[in-house]
Amino acid sequence: MTRELETVQGEDESSPESKITRRRFTQMASVLVASLTLPAVSTAFASSSSIKGVRLWRSPDKTRLVFDLSDNIDHKIFPLTNPQRLVVDIKDTRLPGSLSKLELGQTPIGAVRWATRQSKDLRIVLDLKQKVTPRSFVLKPNETYGYRLVVDLFDEQKATQTTHAPVIKQTNRDIVIAIDAGHGGEDPGAVGHRGAREKDVVLAIARDVAKLFEQAQGFKPVMIRTGDYYISLRERTRKARRHNADFFVSIHADAFTRKSANGASVFTLSQRGATSEAARWLANKENSADLVGGEDGVSLGDKDDVLARVLLDLSMTDSQSRSEKAGSKVLSQLGRVNRLHKSKVEQAAFVVLKNPDIPSILVETGFISNPGEASKLITRAHQRKLARAIHTGVKEFFIKYPPAGTLIANNRSNAGRATYRVRRGDTLSGIASKHSVSLNQLLAYNSMSVRDTLKVGQLLRIP
Ligand SMILES: [Zn+2]
Repeated sequence: MTRELETVQGEDESSPESKITRRRFTQMASVLVASLTLPAVSTAFASSSSIKGVRLWRSPDKTRLVFDLSDNIDHKIFPLTNPQRLVVDIKDTRLPGSLSKLELGQTPIGAVRWATRQSKDLRIVLDLKQKVTPRSFVLKPNETYGYRLVVDLFDEQKATQTTHAPVIKQTNRDIVIAIDAGHGGEDPGAVGHRGAREKDVVLAIARDVAKLFEQAQGFKPVMIRTGDYYISLRERTRKARRHNADFFVSIHADAFTRKSANGASVFTLSQRGATSEAARWLANKENSADLVGGEDGVSLGDKDDVLARVLLDLSMTDSQSRSEKAGSKVLSQLGRVNRLHKSKVEQAAFVVLKNPDIPSILVETGFISNPGEASKLITRAHQRKLARAIHTGVKEFFIKYPPAGTLIANNRSNAGRATYRVRRGDTLSGIASKHSVSLNQLLAYNSMSVRDTLKVGQLLRIP
């Protein structure tokens, strides 16, 4: 403890303490230790706030530390160099527990030290392995957490990544599907029966959907969230746009006040309010995720509604009708593997659907608040079925309405009318060579993968 106090006290190079001699410093430190070990004295200095817990999240571009606080606090952060450190000073705050159990593995943090200063303030020092850009803020309580101090450490940007390559109009390009697993990190989403967490269930399903699109000729998946961390709702749509996505699907598994509520649903954006009470309720819940995750909370105000309406007039009408068409394909596929909550595509004002130019749907794969549905949702078998339904629905839509310049569109317009009905004993490569086309052409043309099984009587289109 004494050693820890010494090193931490010495961090503040700008303070007079750093200039005192080591001898005096050691004396001072031992006085501090003495005062801390005397219960009567330490109660006299009792602080008004305390740190009740700490969580650490690593995302592709930053590390987030979240401290649970008993109260609102005053704090400041400042970096120190040689070696790289970040100091977090919190006024009138105690740390009854320990910060030594944090999993620092993939983060730029080498070690965490802490000590009490002036017998009441808390100083936390992060020893850094590389340069970061820090940011900190305090979040107000919400329905899940109390006050929190968030310290973000942004990785140094690689210079090459900041410039965007010009968009080249490609021919035969892949159709880009942005797959968004809802929630993550600080925001668990709905927590259901036996602790099943929405953020985990939907990430597993999203990964399955991505795998299926990887195998489908003419498609390219982009995962919006790749691990257990939070991304703000606006950043989700921005990331989709950065990847020139042709489609955006957000995957959820929600809760409702009525335990009996069950079934899957598909939503598209509504500007004129939700179509059902449940839709309105869910929209509030999904949108409040940013208040849990702590970003863009303010962006749900009037300004965005105005902007959204302008964009709607410009380009959303087309995107909206495409969203609905794709949504109903997905819904009918979901109906084969799950009970449906509503038999029609519903509309609600979800922030993640506010993509003016990218057709977007939000899939509620089921209600995690329903004990029966929750126990299915956590099984890999059911997750895979849901993923296959989402994949098939979206794929069917794009085969019917492929964007210009894509491989799928090209195959469609080059089409002769030739078709072939599969007979017993046929193989894909056999059919391809019989019609003097390559196996890949045949697969792409029918949006199949080599792993798809042929059914007798199935109609294949021949390029
Ligand atoms: Zn959700």
